[in-house]
Amino acid sequence: MGKRQLGQHPQSRYAHLLSSERNGNYTEYRPATFEIPVERPPKGCQSCTVACETCRTSLTYTVFSIPATRARRWAWLLTALAGSASMLVSGLTIQHLGGHHSGEPDESLSGLLALGSVGGFIVAAVGLSFWWYEDGVRGPGRLMGIGGHTIKR
Ligand SMILES: [Zn+2]
Repeated sequence: MGKRQLGQHPQSRYAHLLSSERNGNYTEYRPATFEIPVERPPKGCQSCTVACETCRTSLTYTVFSIPATRARRWAWLLTALAGSASMLVSGLTIQHLGGHHSGEPDESLSGLLALGSVGGFIVAAVGLSFWWYEDGVRGPGRLMGIGGHTIKR
């Protein structure tokens, strides 16, 4: 399930951003990526501080066990399903109201339904991508400009 085979070591790598260059609307990042040298524990999770290969900054990564990672994948999948259900139900209700109501549908209700359908779509999309990429690794994960660190999945 998901994209990753769960092995003894996480397949995600950490990246040290060397440079970024803007080309019109597109920013090209040049990262150096390295393996995360943290072994997957038999259960629970394990935190380890590693020194970045490029700049020696201390980075703390947490790696979850295989069962804990599977549990997280299930949680993301359920999130995606809940989002899809909300999108579907709201969408069908909007159609139903449109077809059978002669007057204007209640405004707060249609607002709620629009929120349910758009929000459901976003939740489903985010849940699915997290499900797909979940590798059981947590750590510094934002590109903060040059010298920033992130996890490459
Ligand atoms: Zn670094």
